[in-house]
Amino acid sequence: MTIPINIMTDCEDSFKSRVDYLSLRSRFAKPERYRLHLTSRYRLGDNEKIPELTANIWGKFIDDTIWTHPIYTLIGGEPLLYPHITDVLTILGFNNSRIEIVTNGNLLNKYIDLMFKYNVKIIIGLEDIHKSNVRILEIIKDFKTEYYKNINFNLTISPENMEYVEQWLNNLMIYPIQSISFQQELKSLDLATNIEMNKFTDLLKQKFSKNSTKIIFLPITSFDNNVCLKPWLNPTIMPNGNILNCQYQVIGNITNNSIWEIWNEGINLKFREKLLNIHKFPYCLHCEDFYFKYEILYERVEKNE
Ligand code: SF4
Repeated sequence: MTIPINIMTDCEDSFKSRVDYLSLRSRFAKPERYRLHLTSRYRLGDNEKIPELTANIWGKFIDDTIWTHPIYTLIGGEPLLYPHITDVLTILGFNNSRIEIVTNGNLLNKYIDLMFKYNVKIIIGLEDIHKSNVRILEIIKDFKTEYYKNINFNLTISPENMEYVEQWLNNLMIYPIQSISFQQELKSLDLATNIEMNKFTDLLKQKFSKNSTKIIFLPITSFDNNVCLKPWLNPTIMPNGNILNCQYQVIGNITNNSIWEIWNEGINLKFREKLLNIHKFPYCLHCEDFYFKYEILYERVEKNE
């Protein structure tokens, strides 16, 4: 078995080595992170008849999976619009789970105390950063100082909004927040734009290097060499209970089966084998999970696991 020198940067030829390095080749892979897609609602007043699971069903799922000590990432839509969000947070918090929530931040004031109580990592995602998009700054400005250490921002950077990035960094750096990460819009991935963006991000990194907040610019140029570990490590559970091993592939439903009857069986095993052989599908280059795995690997590398 070849052990990659740097699992973050090795080329795609080492895909199989990476899978071995992470001990994933055996049939039984324990997910490191579950993405719980609580609701499809994006804003108040969105159709209330869309399918959503009860807190009780989520509770059973958590009971079934908590023994592997995974991270639970709560997403949506807007997860804070899920009507039973308090119950789900309480079930997870009561079990000392590692919890993340990806939110637009609009309802943070209502839940920030509960989230701080359960040490929830809050990731505020802003796709549209420009000068007038300041509502979130109004929302966070009166938080207790200790709350900021759980707050992270994820901002999308593009040639159209580049001029506002520095101002946003200045605005956010007033608070002792944990991290600010920038990711690229996929449409801006041509070579000339990448070079320009790389120069720009290098300048910003230098300028803010002494600040305690971690600034992360997700890799821009090396996507072609990425691999996806989602079918091993990162199931998504949809608002109706469907279990996904890839962006759109349903392999079961938590209302009918335990995840353990599905995750390391039949369809998913075949899918893993195929991915190991072809390395990526054409669609992978446009899939958010191509980025997501970095965070999993970063955590392993940082923890020296
Ligand atoms: S489309 Fe590709 S990158 Fe996305 S989840 Fe499926 S295998 Fe992974």
